[in-house]
Amino acid sequence: MIPKLIKDARKIIIKIGSNTLAGKDGKINFSFLDDLAEQAAELMKQGKQIVIVSSGAQVAGLSTMDKWARKKDIHYRQALCAVGQVQLMKAWRRAFEKHDFFIAQILLTREDFNDTNRTLNMRNTLFTLVDEGIIPIINENDTVSVEEIKIGDNDTLAARSAILWSADLLILFSDIDGIYNKNPKEFPDAVLVEEVHNFEETRKNIIIGETNNFGTGGIATKLDAAELALSYGIPTILADGSKPRCLQALAAGNQKGTVFLA
Ligand code: ADP
Repeated sequence: MIPKLIKDARKIIIKIGSNTLAGKDGKINFSFLDDLAEQAAELMKQGKQIVIVSSGAQVAGLSTMDKWARKKDIHYRQALCAVGQVQLMKAWRRAFEKHDFFIAQILLTREDFNDTNRTLNMRNTLFTLVDEGIIPIINENDTVSVEEIKIGDNDTLAARSAILWSADLLILFSDIDGIYNKNPKEFPDAVLVEEVHNFEETRKNIIIGETNNFGTGGIATKLDAAELALSYGIPTILADGSKPRCLQALAAGNQKGTVFLA
């Protein structure tokens, strides 16, 4: 099912979680970015269109401003993301320029999706960039998104962006193969759920555990995001992005994941 979904999709939106972007040392994992950019470039050369939703501003910020690591108040957290966003885009730009692709930064908030004029502008910008072969890299605009108006997790941001762009497929890359019946980090005997058709049933049948380190939404938001995307006919794949050449492995049927489809 996964190889067919990737083969049939022309417009693919890929979300990368913070835990996948960060290496074991808590800093940006540059070799991961290089690997993903290389694979995205290959897909684009095959005629596919790619939009990326990238978390990791905080991770990137901490790599630069490690003296702020213990500062927990919201203004410092936002300032940290503002510093880190530049580092994050620099890292993506470096990764893609090796393949002669330009990137573009799009920072969005929840309010942007609730306003008809703004959504129209966002849509037009996305279409123009993609038509010109540029890879839009979307993230939440942390400077203006205080807790009350935050989308809060990039899984939902990715689903909303997929709907806005009328994507054919949403891929959520995390640090696990997919949804398990219980948290595989706590229970080694956890079993991977390879296909989800019924969200209510899945929510009832699995035990959702903690996220780790930089994770924000966890499995609950991935289920909600996939359900939202599917309500607009967009299937979702949740897979482990930390595996080498994960996109190609999924496309070739050599890597497992969870597929959410009707
Ligand atoms: P990301 O940063 O990629 O968005 P999160 O850290 O928010 O990812 O969520 C993924 C984490 O959720 C996994 O690392 C895993 O430890 C945890 N988790 C908890 N319960 C489950 C479950 N039932 N199936 C899979 N993962 C689970």
